[in-house]
Amino acid sequence: MKSLELEQRQVVVIGAGPSGAIASALLKRQGHDVLVLERQRFPRFSIGESLLSHCLDFVEEAGMLEAVRAAGFQTKHGAAFGWGERYTEFDFRDTFTPGQGSTYQVLRADFDKLLADQAELQGVEIRYEEEIVAAEFDGACPCLTVKRLSDGHSYQVECAFVLDASGYGRVLPRLLDLDTPSSFPVRQALFTHVEDRIDAASGFDREKILITTHPTLRDVWFWTIPFSNGRCSLGVVADASRFQGRPEDLDACLRQFVEETPSLARPLQNAVWDTPARAIGGYSANVKTLHGPGFALLGNAAEFLDPVFSSGVTIAMRSASMAAGLLHRQLSGESIDWEQQFAIPLKRGVDTFRVYVEGWYDGSFQDVIYYQHATPEIRRMISSILAGYAWDERNPYVAEPRRRLRVLSELCATNG
Ligand code: FAD
Repeated sequence: MKSLELEQRQVVVIGAGPSGAIASALLKRQGHDVLVLERQRFPRFSIGESLLSHCLDFVEEAGMLEAVRAAGFQTKHGAAFGWGERYTEFDFRDTFTPGQGSTYQVLRADFDKLLADQAELQGVEIRYEEEIVAAEFDGACPCLTVKRLSDGHSYQVECAFVLDASGYGRVLPRLLDLDTPSSFPVRQALFTHVEDRIDAASGFDREKILITTHPTLRDVWFWTIPFSNGRCSLGVVADASRFQGRPEDLDACLRQFVEETPSLARPLQNAVWDTPARAIGGYSANVKTLHGPGFALLGNAAEFLDPVFSSGVTIAMRSASMAAGLLHRQLSGESIDWEQQFAIPLKRGVDTFRVYVEGWYDGSFQDVIYYQHATPEIRRMISSILAGYAWDERNPYVAEPRRRLRVLSELCATNG
């Protein structure tokens, strides 16, 4: 068989989404040679439109904050929650952990392209429509096989290190058999974009994501994410069993869920449903390891928990920042323990989110969220986690999430 042409690079990043763009820019800023291979052409659709404050810390670190601020995205100051007549808000400008405060609600096609373009402006080489189809890690250095989608031409790239930022593509977990089942049940999301026509006088706060609990099915919830262009992203998330017996047509099914939920149907009563609904299911994923000789997994290529607290992009960027920093030190001759210095500290914050996601679905965290009498201090601690600061162990609800949540939810249940 004719051998493929071989290219030598220092670092290859698989995927140009948020984790790939941030990691590649950070490495380039440290003077390393980075090649990003992305199988799609940008702009491309992606789900995950509500950002947390903490992710802007990494956007800033990568020198992209000014461009993001200038892009006209919808400002987001926090998260609002509604269940029947109950309504509560958490403001990200008033959190236990001092941080970025406000953040954005973004069309990911635009946001991801902006970050990738910013990485390119900083000198990162990105090749679009080039797909990683094979990976070997048993030689002297990692070797990836790449297929150029425009003409089917294949070639190989050898490098010192691979960062897998391939998101739902999960390239190395698939090719190296690293996948392991997620602890979360299979849930589905059904979503669309609408021209929302929400009455500005209704008090609806466009500067917050609205999470609405279904009136009778407490494990079923909706996101409403307003954009700056008069439209919003609307989705419902439920266990697969909750979709049984409902219309097969995705639009009709989503509309049925919304109609059952008056506190959401009301603000959306004049909405123009002009975009076909889409479904995505079984998105929770996990891996046996976050690293191996010559590679590390970033963002969704590693673990994805659940969309409820919009933590995906923040975790993706945090993993990118941590891995880029460690890889810079490794490429500079230091010895790095990827388990101790990357996987364990990254998982600490992911595990904090995990506790609150589990608590959302078993109802204990919903009891806390919808509790009307929590002290301002406790609300600031919870707000901090909702803003993405899930690694700040000075926050008692981060340091001991399980115990704190149990005690607080018991208190809320007792005092109603
Ligand atoms: P991605 O953004 O998925 O980027 C990966 C890139 O890799 C893609 O561009 C892809 O084309 C490329 N790629 C894949 N395979 C290959 C290959 N073989 N070769 C080359 N390139 C490849 N997160 C939030 O922060 N806020 C939210 O509100 C939110 N809502 C969500 C709602 C739902 C229903 C779901 C399922 C997720 C949600 N998320 C949300 C999570 C969010 O979508 C992800 O966490 C985030 O996009 C991860 O970023 P990433 O950079 O890891 O991967």
